[in-house]
Amino acid sequence: MPIDATSPYDDQNIFAKILRGEIPCRRVYEDDFALAFHDINPQAPHHLLVIPKGAYVSWDDFSAKASDAEIAGFVRAVGIVARDAGFVAPGYRLLANTGLDAHQEVPHLHVHVFAGRPLGPMLA
Ligand code: C5P
Repeated sequence: MPIDATSPYDDQNIFAKILRGEIPCRRVYEDDFALAFHDINPQAPHHLLVIPKGAYVSWDDFSAKASDAEIAGFVRAVGIVARDAGFVAPGYRLLANTGLDAHQEVPHLHVHVFAGRPLGPMLA
């Protein structure tokens, strides 16, 4: 079920559990600001998720409340993940579903990184 991006943070969400090490993930990158891992239900040949270490429900929550250091660290981490995976030359797509109409399902900010085939025109 999609979630409301303005809802309070629920520390029992699945990505909070992954961050605490309570649930495994196929990790590809980690630093002080971000964790990246393979999506369990890939929608492209390569489908990674990058999440901030802080407790933010959505892109809206993060962009409003995170410190400049957290925002810079997270954005840099997304770039590192894509670069280290070799996605830059063929290209990749970033997506951050935010709230009900975007069908955000997990209430911890995550940026999808899709790559590995021509991804077609951007969906509205
Ligand atoms: O943007 P949205 O919230 O819809 O995407 C959630 C994503 O989290 C899905 O692509 C889903 O496959 C992924 N997921 C995951 N590991 C889990 C639960 C969800 O990779 N344990």
